[in-house]
Amino acid sequence: MRVGALLDLKGREVATISPSRSVEDAIYELHARRIGALVVVDGTGPAVGIVSERDIVNALAEHGSDALALRVLDVMTSPVVTCTEDDSCTQLMVQMTENRFRHVPVVHEGHLAGMVSIGDAVKVRLSELEGEKKELLDYVSSW
Ligand code: AMP
Repeated sequence: MRVGALLDLKGREVATISPSRSVEDAIYELHARRIGALVVVDGTGPAVGIVSERDIVNALAEHGSDALALRVLDVMTSPVVTCTEDDSCTQLMVQMTENRFRHVPVVHEGHLAGMVSIGDAVKVRLSELEGEKKELLDYVSSW
């Protein structure tokens, strides 16, 4: 399945945050939305970076509770790897596994068009495998 088709199912909303907001704000956003990463946007392009729960855990380990007052800019990863709606979900799973991250923002014509998490990609692949299994079973039992 292509990323575009996944977004048709999942929706195209992307949770974003400004680089000048605090790590504490980012934690509240992640908690309220029940997600693992926010795309960092400053109006200069689709994404200036990404901040995930991993970055916040690392900042807390390094700075203790002082990490809460740091800015998103201080803990985010930049540049951010993005994909397009034409990429395949399987390709994306390989990329996420090899690069050890679990989120990839989707960019279409210079704008954020969605977010794919490793969970989304695995869900798609599992459903494809179920479909392939059913086709094979139907084929074998038609003999
Ligand atoms: P995650 O597994 O997505 O929680 O992220 C693990 C680390 O990779 C964190 O430092 C993230 O900021 C970073 N990261 C996550 N997604 C991306 C991405 N698409 N491009 C670059 N870095 C990323």
